[in-house]
Amino acid sequence: MTPEARRIVVLGGGFGGVHAARALEKLFLRDDAVEIVLISEEKFLLFTPMLPEVASGSLAAKHIISPIRAFFRKAQFHNSEVQRIDLNNRKVFTRHCLACGQYELRFDHLVLALGSTTNFYGLPGVTQHAIPMKSLSDAIVLRDRIIDRFEHANMESDPDMRRALLTFVVAVRLLFWSAVGLALLVRTPLLVAVPREWVTSLLRTGCKKPSATRTHSENAFIADTMPGA
Ligand SMILES: Cc1cc2nc3c(=O)[nH]c(=O)nc-3n(C[C@H](O)[C@H](O)[C@H](O)COP(=O)(O)OP(=O)(O)OC[C@H]3O[C@@H](n4cnc5c(N)ncnc54)[C@H](O)[C@@H]3O)c2cc1C
Repeated sequence: MTPEARRIVVLGGGFGGVHAARALEKLFLRDDAVEIVLISEEKFLLFTPMLPEVASGSLAAKHIISPIRAFFRKAQFHNSEVQRIDLNNRKVFTRHCLACGQYELRFDHLVLALGSTTNFYGLPGVTQHAIPMKSLSDAIVLRDRIIDRFEHANMESDPDMRRALLTFVVAVRLLFWSAVGLALLVRTPLLVAVPREWVTSLLRTGCKKPSATRTHSENAFIADTMPGA
């Protein structure tokens, strides 16, 4: 890096951050006056649409991740957690692990692509009891929990207890088909908790539409709940 190089720092190694850093790299590949640094707490890019396959055990975790460094020729990668941003002094403070101190990185331009937190849409009980499925570790925890329930049910002779152990509630909003896929993959009874306002709006508007113009979710939902509608 030349002393006067301008530094673009991209925070977050998800679809947004990696895509932004790749686009910037393309623009400034041969420009030594520009340095690009991507910071993310995970070393890999996660292909989130296939998280249900990891949770259900039909794919291994390694099949849905790609090492972030492999995407870049020029951009540098820092595997650390962003702890603080000082916008006035244009500095980002990060930490690699609990044993190390804070690292400080100056920036000229900052791209924020740190993702979002899970929205539980106020569904009662979900925040307290559900296991989210947003990160790779979430999917692995979910898979282990499901397998553990199967193992427990296998030894249980009380039918009510077995039924309880083998009943899973999938709370979804937009990822309806991911949830159905997960339920089919684990081949177990499924209860889908759908937000009340979604149901009422669907019943109000969906049933009035001719079935050919309804979405797949609308048709499936109406077929399940109101046969013949
Ligand atoms: C199960 C599931 C299935 C999905 N399926 C689809 C689909 O089929 N089609 C579709 O279009 N979208 C889908 N999505 C949504 C899609 O994954 C998101 O819209 C997309 O990932 C958002 O990209 P992003 O870069 O903004 O955030 P993210 O992908 O969340 O990336 C944020 C990155 O920042 C990192 N990070 C966060 N905080 C810090 C910190 N403090 N320090 C360092 N790093 C940090 C995270 O580790 C992560 O790598 C799905 C999501 C899920 C959970």
